[in-house]
Amino acid sequence: MPLKFNLHKTSSQSKARLGTLHINGIDVATPVFMPVGTKATVKAMTPTMVEETQSKLILANTYHLILRPGLEVLKQIGGVKKFSAWNNAMLTDSGGFQVFSLAKLRKITDKGVMFNSHIDGQKLFFTPKMVIEAQHIIGADLIMCFDECVTHDATYQYSKEAMDRTIKWAKECKEYHDSNENSEHQYLGGIVQGAMFDDLREYCAKTLVDMDFPFYSIGGLSVGESDTQMHDILSNVMEHMPTNKARYLMGVGEVRDILNAVMEGIDMFDCVMPTRNARNGEAFTMAGTVRIRNSKHKTDESRIEEGCDCYTCQNFSKAYLHHLDKAKEILFSILMSIHNVRFMQRLMTDIRKSIEEDLFIEYRKNMMKRFYDIDV
Ligand SMILES: [Zn+2]
Repeated sequence: MPLKFNLHKTSSQSKARLGTLHINGIDVATPVFMPVGTKATVKAMTPTMVEETQSKLILANTYHLILRPGLEVLKQIGGVKKFSAWNNAMLTDSGGFQVFSLAKLRKITDKGVMFNSHIDGQKLFFTPKMVIEAQHIIGADLIMCFDECVTHDATYQYSKEAMDRTIKWAKECKEYHDSNENSEHQYLGGIVQGAMFDDLREYCAKTLVDMDFPFYSIGGLSVGESDTQMHDILSNVMEHMPTNKARYLMGVGEVRDILNAVMEGIDMFDCVMPTRNARNGEAFTMAGTVRIRNSKHKTDESRIEEGCDCYTCQNFSKAYLHHLDKAKEILFSILMSIHNVRFMQRLMTDIRKSIEEDLFIEYRKNMMKRFYDIDV
């Protein structure tokens, strides 16, 4: 059965779109934000807590799961969803990004990447086939091709070589995935690379679209380039994406980046920021970031955000959270993560409502003013 994506509405003022992704019986409203559970856990949250934030699609990481707990364990137990008691939808990235950001002493050839594990130095060889095989065992609903992500300042020559490799690997990933009978409930997405070069991005997008993937992602952005650069690349790439398939911008979750990318027609996002910043004492509100550590919150009886329906805001004051942080209590990370993930889902609900009412441009303008005090 093909991956079904229903497009309900496209904004008359921009390319923002409203849709539903039907993933193995789970309906996911788009634009969607996916909380990140790198090592098969959204940090400091139980699956029930994650579900209560109205998150239905989360992300786990292939590279980390291959290293720990390892494929033998996941094979025996019947996949990562069963292993981690997650009953909704899941996506795994290909591990490409981590091979380039974490691994030690890697050697890249057209066949794959030889590298040493960042944990114990163990030698591993990632090939397109191996990465798909691993994702079949891990068992997420949405899986990704193996790709090569380059830095934002990579030369044209190197960016082209990496893009050619990404296309070659995408073909190998798709061939292997399509020939595997046991993977019919897993959908493989293609990743558009090409660094900061419009012609490379365009060529990569067109080539992958010809290969007919059930959904597409844009990789290699939010890696240190400027907002304008990201915006220009995205705007150009989106011209070449089919309208009837979901588009995923990998690793992007900053409020302004989400607003800008939705405007260009992106449907899916993921980022570690809500949970990472939560643990560092940064709570998101519609009016910007609140630093709970600030001594002004020592006796502050107000909630992180009045009107937030999360468990944290329903029950606890900023003063209590400030105390938990000072006392280095585990509950601090839990309560802050609940709020920040719920904030992201409230943001996405508001974004979807504004597209539905054809008011997205006004919504973006208001949100940029409220959150960053920036006029757009
Ligand atoms: Zn809250």
